[in-house]
Amino acid sequence: MPQNFRSLAYALIRRLALLATCCTLLFSAVQGVWTYHSVRQQLLGNIQYVASSNMPMLSVALWDIEPATVRQQLAVIAARPGVGFVRVNVVTGQMFEAGDASLLYHNQVSRFVIPPPAGGGKALGELLIVLKDNYIYRQVALALAGMLLGYFLLTVLLCALVVYVLRRDLEKPMHAMADFAGRLGPHTLTSPLRLQRGKRDMHDEIDLVAAGFGTLQNALTEHIESLDQQVAERTRQLESALADIRDLLTHDTLTGCYNRAFLDERLPQETARAQRSGQPLALVFCDIDHFKQINDEYGHLVGDEVLREVATRLRSQLRNDIDWVVRFGGEEFVVVLPDTGGDNARLVAERLREAVATSMLLEDGRRLQLTASLGVAIWQPDEELDAWLKRADTLLYQAKMQGRNRVES
Ligand code: GH3
Ligand code: MG
Ligand code: MG
Repeated sequence: MPQNFRSLAYALIRRLALLATCCTLLFSAVQGVWTYHSVRQQLLGNIQYVASSNMPMLSVALWDIEPATVRQQLAVIAARPGVGFVRVNVVTGQMFEAGDASLLYHNQVSRFVIPPPAGGGKALGELLIVLKDNYIYRQVALALAGMLLGYFLLTVLLCALVVYVLRRDLEKPMHAMADFAGRLGPHTLTSPLRLQRGKRDMHDEIDLVAAGFGTLQNALTEHIESLDQQVAERTRQLESALADIRDLLTHDTLTGCYNRAFLDERLPQETARAQRSGQPLALVFCDIDHFKQINDEYGHLVGDEVLREVATRLRSQLRNDIDWVVRFGGEEFVVVLPDTGGDNARLVAERLREAVATSMLLEDGRRLQLTASLGVAIWQPDEELDAWLKRADTLLYQAKMQGRNRVES
């Protein structure tokens, strides 16, 4: 997890709490003002009612000059909620009071005229009722406290719900997906993402992302498979091209026989093997007789055709995968016969001579008769390769000298 990581749930809760606090402060201010006014209105209404309901008894008490009753009346009024102080100023100059007289100078004062009991005539005095502002403030504070508590509980509940839902529906699956993506590699590409979520009827964004992972994995798997196929195909092509190149490096393109480079590489291995095994190793030098005349008479293309045919005929007389033929140059071939001694080598050379001497049908339908001269030399232990080849070449020369279409050994 990165160092500057902060979960979505935490970020959301922070914002929620901030928003709830701001809203609560704003609502509290409005609510406070509104509560103050409504409580005050209600109190004033109550005082109006208290004054009017007590007025008859007060009027009678003053008229009958019963101070005890007046005081009792005032005590009842002063005990009413919200009433701080009550005073009656009688026209005679007498004064009755109940409650806290200090409130008179700072709080709302309501004044009521006390009429005589029979009504009409001169007023008997004046009733002063003073509201207790502290009472109003306490009411406002109580209302605000209740509201704040409500808002606080609501905010806490909302935050708890948000945390629970985010943890379950967002945070856990997201962490699981992050883990999954982190572990995703060529070897885990086919294992699907499994999120442990409760059974739900509807799909949500997490399901979409999880499905997206599946699609991505499938596409990658297909892509890798197609890449594998492409690599296999390219490898096959390269191997085939490499085989062609190897073939070109070791073979003569006209006749398909091995070339001089192959002879130089392979002959030492054959002599080493013969040295090890003690088996004989024969070499036949073969040169087509008067080949130049064929070129002169029939043209070079026919000459090439003849060379190919001679090579095929030579190979047809030999053991597969044991004997091998090299085009040594122009119309000269070298045949290597492993595990072959003097007598057998001579027999094989005779067979080769006969195979070449058999008349040849050209592609254009003409028939051609040609011959070859051959020299056979058996490798002597520790003999230099050049000396060995030279011996075979000398024998070939002798065969030419003695009339061609012959084997000398
Ligand atoms: P000999 O009996 O003494 O061997 O006579 P020859 O004519 O066979 O020998 P020579 O060395 O005089 O001539 C060989 C000829 O082979 C000469 C050359 O033009 C021809 N030749 C060499 N390579 C090729 C080839 O790849 N294709 C064709 N068509 N001719 C070739
Ligand atoms: Mg020659
Ligand atoms: Mg020749």
